[in-house]
Amino acid sequence: MSPRIVALSTHDIRFPTSRELDGSDAMNPDPDYSAAYVVLRTADGVEGHGFAFTIGRGNDVQTAAIRALEQYVVGRDVDDIGALYKDMVYDSQLRWLGPEKGVMHMAISAVVNALWDLKARIEGKPLWLLLGELPPERIVDLVDFRYLSDALTPAEALEILRRAEPGRRERIAHLREHGYPAYTTSPGWLGYDDDKLRRLCQEALGQGFKQIKLKVGASLDDDVRRFRVAREVCGDGFPIAIDANQRWDVDSAVTWINALKEFHPHWVEEPTSPDDVLGHAAIARGIAPIPVATGEHVQNRIVFKQLLQAGAISYLQLDSARVGGVNENIAILLLAAKFGVPVCPHAGGVGLCELVQHLSMFDYVAVSGSMENRVIEYVDHLHEHFTDPVVIENGCYTAPNAPGFSARMRPESISAHSFPGGAVWRES
Ligand SMILES: [Mg+2]
Repeated sequence: MSPRIVALSTHDIRFPTSRELDGSDAMNPDPDYSAAYVVLRTADGVEGHGFAFTIGRGNDVQTAAIRALEQYVVGRDVDDIGALYKDMVYDSQLRWLGPEKGVMHMAISAVVNALWDLKARIEGKPLWLLLGELPPERIVDLVDFRYLSDALTPAEALEILRRAEPGRRERIAHLREHGYPAYTTSPGWLGYDDDKLRRLCQEALGQGFKQIKLKVGASLDDDVRRFRVAREVCGDGFPIAIDANQRWDVDSAVTWINALKEFHPHWVEEPTSPDDVLGHAAIARGIAPIPVATGEHVQNRIVFKQLLQAGAISYLQLDSARVGGVNENIAILLLAAKFGVPVCPHAGGVGLCELVQHLSMFDYVAVSGSMENRVIEYVDHLHEHFTDPVVIENGCYTAPNAPGFSARMRPESISAHSFPGGAVWRES
């Protein structure tokens, strides 16, 4: 019999990262990395943890949205994830708050991810392996194909998964031995001075990272200077991506990016609004051959579908905690595979590296079957608060062994960073 969920509890957890300008970029000058955190518990006392990532103010709203889902979750079987996911997404009254976007959708994501953490713990496997060993038919059953059928049908999804089936065992072994390549954003935060940028670039090279990324978009003169510093340290040919965090309108994006052409950006990330599919396509044409990347703020599989159909992106950057959780991200991985676009996920924040490594490893094992031209973002912040933190070796994510979704924060971290009553906030 499938275990039943008997309780849902939430925590508003915030880290005062703005004090050191960690995470600063052109649109987010003072982020306090935060988690609207949810714990599901079964009658046997097994817990599943999940969270929505925010950057401070509004984390209370996000936490309240998760709490509003309690009535859908409590009393349900753990194995009911697919049906429960649809009940939450298609609730006719909650749906008015989206549909499938924003605070409510992120709340659903937190709950769905907590369910998968719970399921993987009960099965005694890390999530990437649990998903990577499912038969193709079971994986297809997890996906909601509504609004996708003009781009991806269940039959096509099944064909993609069957094509990747031979070699799964070898790829699992490869992951366990070599891990999955990472790139680092740590050198490139906009609030850091040139000396810190230079030092962090050198450290990134020394640590074996395959790529770095710089934040841009506040001042073109500064971007030219900082890109020159990074190029000097990393050398010609080393992949350096840039990230504008939605700073520009379409025309100014084209002008600004072309002014940085001499430094050969590996990709330009979030040049404009994440909702502007045609704008991304116009920018891609205007800056070719520099590739466009986006996805961390793309709200659902339908917008990803359009970005792919429009030829607007060369790299797809899914986020583990923004769309409707694992189930919707499987749909997005399948769409990317169908269009032949590599997935290089967004991570960082608090806990996003811990979660998203599982999705990329599942993609490699069972969906795309490839690591070519793919890297997972890595940011060296706040991992010490997790019970199963990511392990980076030689610039690669080590394949997690512990059961679950690596989503669990240490109890002492939860209490110290609870807002506004936790010790960290009382002392400030
Ligand atoms: Mg970004």
